[in-house]
Amino acid sequence: MNIFKTKEDISQFSDIKKRNSKTICLVPTMGYFHQGHISLMEKGKKLCDELVVSLFVNPTQFGPNEDLDSYPMDIDRDLSIARKIGAAAVFMPDKADMYPNNFQTSISLSQLPGYLCGKSRPTHFAGVATVVAKLFNIVKPDVAVFGKKDFQQLKIIRQLTCDMDMNIKIVAGDIVREPDGIAMSSRNAYLKEGQRESALSLYKSLEIAKEAVKNGELKAHIIKDKLKAFIESFDETQIDYISFCDPNTLKEVDSIEKTTLLALAVKVGTTRLIDNALIDPLQ
Ligand code: AMP
Repeated sequence: MNIFKTKEDISQFSDIKKRNSKTICLVPTMGYFHQGHISLMEKGKKLCDELVVSLFVNPTQFGPNEDLDSYPMDIDRDLSIARKIGAAAVFMPDKADMYPNNFQTSISLSQLPGYLCGKSRPTHFAGVATVVAKLFNIVKPDVAVFGKKDFQQLKIIRQLTCDMDMNIKIVAGDIVREPDGIAMSSRNAYLKEGQRESALSLYKSLEIAKEAVKNGELKAHIIKDKLKAFIESFDETQIDYISFCDPNTLKEVDSIEKTTLLALAVKVGTTRLIDNALIDPLQ
């Protein structure tokens, strides 16, 4: 497996592969791999001739009081996982190579970031869109895989590639969960012993909402009140949002008449967790 630290080296690698008519799949990550990342890499490996994994904790997608400096890392373990999966290359650039001193461009979308996580993380999605656009330009993949765990991010990347005429197929990977239901996340490493039960309230809320809809409750505010009380009954929880929304526009809906996204963000202690599920009232 090739390990590239500079834009030039990975770019040259891609050029050579393309010249040899090989297709490239990129899986962008911030590292500290868990089964969610692994599922995306395994999916990507099957989609193209060559799998490239990027490993970069992107500073521009973190807000001033967020966890950039404490973000968990285990590069040796990540590299051995990527190698085992059969990645052709890992791209792990330095911050200074991605954002040299004179860097001045930011890509922001006008609508999708106005909802869900974008409300409490106002600069986050511009950071994500900008770094993903850079990674696409550097690696030149045919396909890129993103997880549905970050549903809003996935929508934004799809919109970005469409708006900017990037000829890259965006493939979505299902949410991978722990046996108890907690969505896998690198940030789960922050959870202290007693906080797992509180973290589980997100997944349990998705199940409660599905059950309520199945039993005929279609009013979003009724289910939301129920979920709010449920989540707040756990220690150290602080709700950022509970949103029933249109999965295409991310606009809030009052009534669950058709397939609706239920998205949650909850702080457990100082750890901000997100989760989501699509709810189909006809099922
Ligand atoms: P991250 O390293 O957290 O930036 O995540 C890299 C990619 O993995 C993103 O496309 C995420 O949506 C995806 N991802 C994170 N957690 C999960 C999960 N539990 N299941 C599936 N994909 C995930």
